[in-house]
Amino acid sequence: MKLAIVGCGAAGATAAQFARKYDRKASIVVFDKEGYGEYSKCALPMVISGELSWNDVIEYSPRWFKNAKIDYRNEEVHKIDFDSKIIEANEEMEYDKIVIATGAMTSIPFKMQGAYTLRNMKDAIEIKKIAEKSKDAIVIGAGLIGLEVAESLMSLGLKVKILEYMPSILPAMVDEDVASYLLKKIDIDVETKCRVKEVYNNIVEADENYEADFVVVATGNKASVEICNKCRIEKGIVVGDDCKAMEDVYAAGDCTQIKDFFGRIMPVGLGSIATRQGMIAGINAAGGNEKLLPPLWAKTTKLFNIEIASVGLMEKDVNIHSKFIGNLLPAYMKGDKILIKLLADEDGVIVGAQAVGNGASLHINKIALAIYKKMKINELARIETTYAPKVAPVFDAVTIASQMIETRMRK
Ligand SMILES: Cc1cc2nc3c(=O)[nH]c(=O)nc-3n(C[C@H](O)[C@H](O)[C@H](O)COP(=O)(O)OP(=O)(O)OC[C@H]3O[C@@H](n4cnc5c(N)ncnc54)[C@H](O)[C@@H]3O)c2cc1C
Repeated sequence: MKLAIVGCGAAGATAAQFARKYDRKASIVVFDKEGYGEYSKCALPMVISGELSWNDVIEYSPRWFKNAKIDYRNEEVHKIDFDSKIIEANEEMEYDKIVIATGAMTSIPFKMQGAYTLRNMKDAIEIKKIAEKSKDAIVIGAGLIGLEVAESLMSLGLKVKILEYMPSILPAMVDEDVASYLLKKIDIDVETKCRVKEVYNNIVEADENYEADFVVVATGNKASVEICNKCRIEKGIVVGDDCKAMEDVYAAGDCTQIKDFFGRIMPVGLGSIATRQGMIAGINAAGGNEKLLPPLWAKTTKLFNIEIASVGLMEKDVNIHSKFIGNLLPAYMKGDKILIKLLADEDGVIVGAQAVGNGASLHINKIALAIYKKMKINELARIETTYAPKVAPVFDAVTIASQMIETRMRK
């Protein structure tokens, strides 16, 4: 069996690894137009800030693939003939099965000339270079990537202005009230409700004009699907939970769209999901029969030393919620604060949560499990948690936020 994998990001590299584990004898060829092997795109803001060097973020080098008997080729695939099963890269190659894992690119909803985007290593190195000879920058987009880039640039001493179209920061991750709680804790210069019309020569044209030494655009992603003409494409390549796009064709990662836990069709856009899809696509292409659990979109980041995490639905989707800001430790210990926002549907089933503060991500992981298990708020309110003065209070923030919803639903 000859398996071709196009793209060596989180999805493609994981597909190759799991295909190799499943079938020790298969011939596996990975095509990667970048040439670094697999590296963490999520760590690129730290390459810009200089906390990590470009080679620190390489997780699986070309040599690693060689040792795993995977034929890694630093070549761009220009065309796939899905009928004859032929790939066109530096030369033509026949395959039996194929995994498409071509990722995504920045989606730019306005005319842009001369600005930077951050999607790959080359972009990070270029932004770092221009930052080192600049005094100020504009970042368009206050989502996860925009804010991480802004923080990196600020750590290099640049003055950074952030422009965001939505009314609050991290709009796809937390609700407005949680965003404004966070905003009070971080010192950033952000203009919300700002509709950018055009970017040219380091000038950003919006309701007023802004100018800086350079501009970074972080306005979301769109799937890279140019070479997948035969596949069904909507917001990305349409795949099921088995990552199958067509007979003998699998697709995984940011180039795909999937049905999530709540029945919504969503483009992927998260490394955590891309990796899990890569695993499923690799195993299934090698003859297995694995299925992806529908995503809940658990997300986390750390900005200016504050941990933020969220999972599931947001306030626009459901109207039963509670927000608790409490101590991480018993009150007498004077520990740090944590914010927990919980969301439930009309039957009291937990459907979402957001958290800000130390341990946010661990709390969200626990709530993700509760969502998967369709747990009700009154069960979460009663579940046992650890207690010790130096570690955690008897009722932790999640328990109290659950009790708050329970009380509200009883009325
Ligand atoms: C700055 C940044 C921070 C992020 N932070 C997080 C985070 O904290 N948590 C999280 O879960 N997600 C995060 N993400 C998202 C995450 O990186 C992506 O979801 C993940 O990389 C998707 O993996 P992928 O393999 O689908 O695509 P990619 O990682 O984009 O890999 C696709 C690869 O395919 C190659 N390719 C494309 N076309 C061809 C072709 N024709 N021939 C050969 N090669 C080709 C590309 O060069 C690329 O290397 C972040 C993304 C960025 C950019």
